[in-house]
Amino acid sequence: ALTIGIVGLPNVGKSTLFNALTRNQVLAANYPFATIEPNVGVVPLPDPRLDRLAEIFGSARILPATVSFVDIAGIVRGASEGEGLGNQFLANIREAQAIAQVIRVFDDPDVVHVEGKVDPRSDMETIHTELILADLQTLEKALPRVEKEVKIKKREAAELAALQAAQAVLERGETIFAAAASGELDLEHLRELNLLTAKPFIYVFNADDSVLGDPAKQEELRAMVAPADCVFLDAKLEADLVELSEEEAREMLEMNGQKESGLDQLARVGFHTLGLQTYLTAGPKEARAWTINQGDTAPQAAGVIHSDFQRGFIKAEVVSFADLSEAGSMAEAKARGKVRIEGKDYVMADGDVVEFRFNV
Ligand code: GDP
Repeated sequence: ALTIGIVGLPNVGKSTLFNALTRNQVLAANYPFATIEPNVGVVPLPDPRLDRLAEIFGSARILPATVSFVDIAGIVRGASEGEGLGNQFLANIREAQAIAQVIRVFDDPDVVHVEGKVDPRSDMETIHTELILADLQTLEKALPRVEKEVKIKKREAAELAALQAAQAVLERGETIFAAAASGELDLEHLRELNLLTAKPFIYVFNADDSVLGDPAKQEELRAMVAPADCVFLDAKLEADLVELSEEEAREMLEMNGQKESGLDQLARVGFHTLGLQTYLTAGPKEARAWTINQGDTAPQAAGVIHSDFQRGFIKAEVVSFADLSEAGSMAEAKARGKVRIEGKDYVMADGDVVEFRFNV
């Protein structure tokens, strides 16, 4: 399953945020496919299109796409020295497809900061450094082996060069992700090493009102982590929100000047960072969003519902959500010529409303 690993220094609010994530999952109880594990929080991806589809088709229930977060405890300054980052930590973080780093920007004299003061840049760099050191160890182990294999022509010289380029990036204290984003590094030959800093990063600024109400301060922090995405939230408020009814939660958010909860934002940004998109199906039973990769074809999309659908794929009846919503019914969308028949080479677009035809 696609998951985002949550990391951060001690006392930045990881547990608080994670409790909100898991509590949220208990509330959103109708996830038949989500295995509930103690260190995984499954968050529904907010999608108002599903409400509209349920209205059009009279669907009995709504099933949004989900994003999974794993709590990866155990990173502190110096963690990669000595015995190295814990094995369990490394195993968990390697499995994640993206890394969400929680950074403290809230001021609270009662909550001790491990580094003595609230300093987002320094916290970010501390975590980067530990992950970079872990990656350097991975590269140092891999390099002699790859060198040998190049000599005996089992590998291309370009593969060795890619590893050396990665090593140079890490040695000057940069992440592989940042170097790839700027076009300096090509990830192609690095993939099999599963380097930690090659994963996409998201930054979660655990903030208080002073930051949440200060767009200029947010811009400053956003620029600090660019090109990575970031989210501003108040972990304590998020933990309170999940205890409330939907109605009460909305009022509380409004009182805080926010339109959307931090968890909703996190799900959205996480989904985007993972390179995912959704297509939609609807009928009287349910209106549902299905998760696919950007660039997936119609048969691949069908395979997410069932592997038989992919194998026996014949064609897909597709209408964009916007066209269907405007038409107000499938019959009217058809009458307007908005429903297309697509074949096996069709590349799915986000928000396609689909019905598959297949052989069983
Ligand atoms: P972790 O070590 O990163 O998991 O941090 P915790 O979630 O345990 O939080 C450490 C302390 O900071 C706890 O006492 C939390 O109640 C407090 N805390 C977490 N988030 C916030 C926040 O947004 N604002 C304030 N004022 N305190 C927070």
